[in-house]
Amino acid sequence: MAEGVRAACVVGWPIKHSRSPLIHGYWIKQHGLAAEYRREAIAPEAVADFFANLSGRGDVGCNVTLPHKEAALAASAPDDRARAVGAANTLWLDGGRLRSTNTDVEGFTANLDASVPGWDLPPGEAVVLGAGGSARGVIYGLIERSFTRINVVNRTPERTEALRARFGPAVQPAHWSALPHLLTRARLVVNTTSLGMTGQPPLGVDLSPLPGNAVVADLVYAPLETPLLAAARARGLATADGLGMLLHQAVRGFSLWFGVRPEVTPELRAVIETDLAKERE
Ligand code: NDP
Repeated sequence: MAEGVRAACVVGWPIKHSRSPLIHGYWIKQHGLAAEYRREAIAPEAVADFFANLSGRGDVGCNVTLPHKEAALAASAPDDRARAVGAANTLWLDGGRLRSTNTDVEGFTANLDASVPGWDLPPGEAVVLGAGGSARGVIYGLIERSFTRINVVNRTPERTEALRARFGPAVQPAHWSALPHLLTRARLVVNTTSLGMTGQPPLGVDLSPLPGNAVVADLVYAPLETPLLAAARARGLATADGLGMLLHQAVRGFSLWFGVRPEVTPELRAVIETDLAKERE
């Protein structure tokens, strides 16, 4: 690495499908920074050493993706968000100390702020579909925004119970069969399952019981317009897509490592959309 160049990377196993290098590379070029951002494929047995040697390699920090987010939490001093979610996806060196946060939380809420201003005014009831890793960040974001009842529906009920134990009584585990009734009073519906993703079964939720002011968000971003979002738009409901969340979650890491707060612009979105379209060809 050339002298004076600030370096960061994304760490995962595998890592080749990560869009983070494209996002951060775009911002590095846009701001004319002496910086670089790489992919690092690191096996689980090597990842603790990788985090411990971050500064030795000259990195100022990193993003962390599957399956290393829990290991990243254990290797660092987490903030409230990372600790509450139980996973860290952004690490940075702060005076020699390795700190961490979970930017999926703000990726989720900042994307809604940008896509549907006022989506949480007032916060009503939310329905979260899915109870995996991404649901934890979404639920924490909803609690931060004062949602008092978050109905969580998942194929495996033990995982919704675990979310209630983690986040408290705002989380209400519910069965799929209760969904039509829960939708009648939902302000927000969020898909955090992998259903609807290219190569996965469709989600198959009937949105017709939703009130006309409800907002529908999907974390899935391949395809960009999931069948869930298409159905919501056909009903005239406001929506927020998974690509927006992916872009907004990247902002904080870039600011921490490179000292410039970047913007999520239509031009950046278009770059990533083009890349996603290439994968479908
Ligand atoms: P996990 O593997 O942790 O969770 C997957 C969830 O999907 C679980 O709730 C699982 O249910 C459910 N699910 C999977 N298959 C089925 C099925 N056949 N029927 C019913 N439910 C099913 O994944 P993540 O939470 O990490 O990610 C979920 C999605 O969110 C992915 O598509 C991912 O790409 C996307 N994502 C997007 C982000 C963004 O920035 N836009 C950020 C993070 C994730 P069960 O518990 O019963 O197995």
